[in-house]
Amino acid sequence: MITAVNRPAALHINLAAIKENTRQAKAHLKPGQKLFCVVKANAYGHGAARLAPVMEEAGADGFCVAMLDEGLELRRAQIVKPILVLGLQPAEEAALAAANDISLPVSSLDWLKEAEKVLRKEGLQLKIHLAIDSGMGRIGFSEDEDFKAVNEYLQGNDAFFVEGMFTHFASADSADSSYFDYQVKRFKHMESLLTVKPKWIHVDNTAASLFDKDVASDIVRFGIGLYGLNPSSAPGSQDLEPAFALKPAMSFVSELTYVKQIHKGYGVGYGSTHIAEEDEWIGTVPVGYADGWIRKFQGFKVKVVDTYCPIVGRVCMDQFMVLLPKEVPAGTPVELISADPAAPNSLRRAADWLDTIHYEVACQFNDRLDRIYDNE
Ligand SMILES: *Cc1c(COP(=O)(O)O)cnc(C)c1O
Repeated sequence: MITAVNRPAALHINLAAIKENTRQAKAHLKPGQKLFCVVKANAYGHGAARLAPVMEEAGADGFCVAMLDEGLELRRAQIVKPILVLGLQPAEEAALAAANDISLPVSSLDWLKEAEKVLRKEGLQLKIHLAIDSGMGRIGFSEDEDFKAVNEYLQGNDAFFVEGMFTHFASADSADSSYFDYQVKRFKHMESLLTVKPKWIHVDNTAASLFDKDVASDIVRFGIGLYGLNPSSAPGSQDLEPAFALKPAMSFVSELTYVKQIHKGYGVGYGSTHIAEEDEWIGTVPVGYADGWIRKFQGFKVKVVDTYCPIVGRVCMDQFMVLLPKEVPAGTPVELISADPAAPNSLRRAADWLDTIHYEVACQFNDRLDRIYDNE
């Protein structure tokens, strides 16, 4: 996909905010804990290769990604700190991971056997993290017998270095901690079955760290908070108070490319879902659903100078229209998303509008949008 650098529409990423959030996350760790910055999905849409060195400088001890290719991107960006892939990879990729010193998660004995063949052929050793499903219902061991068999298999097996054992919480962002406590108990039980001692035992994500859930975790896998977003953010719900102030890093700005007056009865957009009730000033913004600015944004208010103006008519593939309170010139700036967490067009409020979470909104802005990095 071509990144459109020659149009007046871009995501702005405030590097000072990324640095500040990373520093604060690091300062909040318990003694001995390591900060692994989660930069999967292009750093939640913020730009992984650009941000990883910034996070490194601000205190990152390592990085987590979702898949091997994302880890390779970081290595190409000269990142030498540990990189852990969080999702399962095909066993044939074990050699590529090992050759690039990238750690992979393990969820089954069969996978280990397949990976061992590949590794022996190349004379490589792979760093692995044993994934435990303690109640998330996705990857990881959950049966005692399976886990004991893996423990057995790994005894003295030099094709693997057991770097970690980890689990992931389903509800660390919730005020009710009963399911969280259940998961901790399940995880501790699985840990007790292990005689191979992993270097790092880790469970914390942003929420567990920020809301001070008291669990031992050698690594904190800190994701959403680095981008200044509160992990506790279900649509319409009251957010839990984080341990330190988070600074959103992403804003989205464009400008009006065209402004015109329409008269009563005139339609706007596909299907003419907006009909002028009187004479109206309509501005066109050169952003559309092909950028990830989806059709559900119809009705959401974006900021034109200092007025929040509703999106009228359907969002088109590459453009949308706003209802202006008065005539303004083409070229007038439009703020689609504000980095101010209190603004009505913050990422959090946009997620509310779309009935989703800001994680998803940040990720849906795609590569056609240029990302501009400010405040180096
Ligand atoms: C995405 C992810 C994280 C980071 O979660 P945040 O809520 O963004 O902090 C941590 N661990 C695992 C396994 C993940 O998939």
